[in-house]
Amino acid sequence: MNWRNILSRYARILDGEEEARYLTAKSIEVEFSKSDDIQTLWKIHDKSLKEPRIVDSPEKSLLDLKIEIADRIFRKCEFCERRCRVDRTEQRGACGVKEASIASEFLHIGEEYMLIPSYTIFFSGCTFHCVFCQNWDISQNICGIYIEPQRLAEMIKARRAQGALNVNWVGGDPTPNLPYILKVLKFCDENIPQIWNSNMYCSLETMKLLDGIIDLYLTDFKYGNDRCAERLSLVKKYMEIVERNHRIAYSQTDMLIRHLVMPNHIRCCTEPILKWISKNTPQALVNIMAQYRPEYKAYKYDDISRPLKMSEHGDALEIAKELGLNFIY
Ligand code: SF4
Repeated sequence: MNWRNILSRYARILDGEEEARYLTAKSIEVEFSKSDDIQTLWKIHDKSLKEPRIVDSPEKSLLDLKIEIADRIFRKCEFCERRCRVDRTEQRGACGVKEASIASEFLHIGEEYMLIPSYTIFFSGCTFHCVFCQNWDISQNICGIYIEPQRLAEMIKARRAQGALNVNWVGGDPTPNLPYILKVLKFCDENIPQIWNSNMYCSLETMKLLDGIIDLYLTDFKYGNDRCAERLSLVKKYMEIVERNHRIAYSQTDMLIRHLVMPNHIRCCTEPILKWISKNTPQALVNIMAQYRPEYKAYKYDDISRPLKMSEHGDALEIAKELGLNFIY
């Protein structure tokens, strides 16, 4: 398995043979006005993605239009399928996020081998409330600082010079922070791949705004049924939403799907997820992760209150092998 054949866009950007998609979005000319209603803005957006007019330094670009739409959603928040509809300039929704709050940012060397060193930007807050969260200190508490978008763009440039292969937007979850991310990219001009590292509980609107911006989806596919999702992450309609978004992401660009194998969840979660991938996104790269440890409130749940056994991870790998998936581990 040669990862370059699977993550081909990502590889071409790394090799300097292709432009990161957000840079192209900055060259797509669009015409819109602040007084246009949201339906009109979406029409212009969708048409510009389908039939892009590329020019040097347009007065208004597709990225500007995405920022305008994202700013409007921010005032009645529907970035994820919880659809709280709160005005985020004044209130927090279920994710706990108002303005973007960055818990940490650094060159990460613990990601998949083709991604490192990865300039990883950890936002605090999350659209999920997983009882076993391995990052609960930042996902379930709002902490960190607001960094001006222009300043973060300068930091991206500096990290690029230090060897960063990509910009890895994560958390918690990056979803509540989409307007902020788009504004950072407005100040950025590095040809560096953009990674959306997410639980994929995004709304359809978010998936559309990510189209033409994100080069690689690094997804976290956790559950194979709604019952486990509701019990352990406190979310509804998990399967419908996360499967839909995986299909959309797969149609947009490269995808690397992570699945953290959990104790006692091979038959109910791991197996159905891997089968779904083999049918629906067969060319995606898959990382079957073994590093589960009982964190946060996991000790209260008998099934997940212990680390994963080697044999359970082995069973997951066997299933992936039988299905012919492109997997790393
Ligand atoms: S991003 Fe946060 S505020 Fe917005 S809909 Fe989702 S949970 Fe609610």
